[in-house]
Amino acid sequence: MPEGPEIQRACDKIARVLKQQRLVEVQIEWPPLAEFEQIWKGSAIVDLRARGKALLTFFDTGDILYTHNQLYGRWLTRKTHKIPSSNRSLRLAFYTEKGSAYLYSATDIEVLSQEELSQHKYLSSLGPDILDPDLQSAQIKNRLLEKRFRNRQLAGLFLDQSFLAGPGNYLRSEILFVAGVHPRLKPSQLGPQKLERLARTTLLISRRAYETGGITTEAQLEKRLKAEGERRRTRRHYVFGRAGKLCRLCGQEQVEKVTISSRSVFFCPACQVNSPRGE
Ligand SMILES: [Zn+2]
Repeated sequence: MPEGPEIQRACDKIARVLKQQRLVEVQIEWPPLAEFEQIWKGSAIVDLRARGKALLTFFDTGDILYTHNQLYGRWLTRKTHKIPSSNRSLRLAFYTEKGSAYLYSATDIEVLSQEELSQHKYLSSLGPDILDPDLQSAQIKNRLLEKRFRNRQLAGLFLDQSFLAGPGNYLRSEILFVAGVHPRLKPSQLGPQKLERLARTTLLISRRAYETGGITTEAQLEKRLKAEGERRRTRRHYVFGRAGKLCRLCGQEQVEKVTISSRSVFFCPACQVNSPRGE
């Protein structure tokens, strides 16, 4: 499943073709939305935003297209108007002077008004987006201490999209490792400095993964690992996917893998001690 940084990058890619562009042609192959083929032809797309795992497309007609890809949905873009060859089912195609964008196989597609948007069940269940440029670490710290979150294990909390929208499996392990907190600890067990560090690290690692296209290791380290011949798949991360390998930070312990909230979390038992209040 793609995580916040991958979804935001996919949104950026679609925006390069559609944002601030007039639609010279619209093709709709999803019957419930058939009428919008005529309505949107000639209209302009004013903005595109990723929200959780959904993409929102804002039209100058006031309509907002909500699409959630679930498991099979996928957007493709082209610099031309040549439709990609694909075995998937085409739902929508938008054509502008800049190129074209195609949505395949998604089943969660709706057109919303501004008012419906604010009351949308999935969207209103989401916490602040980790890639929102206005999100501050102080907000994350406050959120960690909220009653509904403070007594939850960090491993589960960092997959809960109502806490923060965006983190998935690799970000969860990487954020907790860089912050130096054990995945089984709860926010209520952390001292103020640890909480502060966890909040800052959440922003740092999420933004780094967005900028680098999914790399969470620090640039110098990643460069050195590359020079040493490590493949991209393994040098991308500190702990995620590295069970049994030596920790990159302490160089003493092997990275461990445990299943929490039905998904694997990776951590270093030396760098992330399971002791409350440990600073
Ligand atoms: Zn370590």
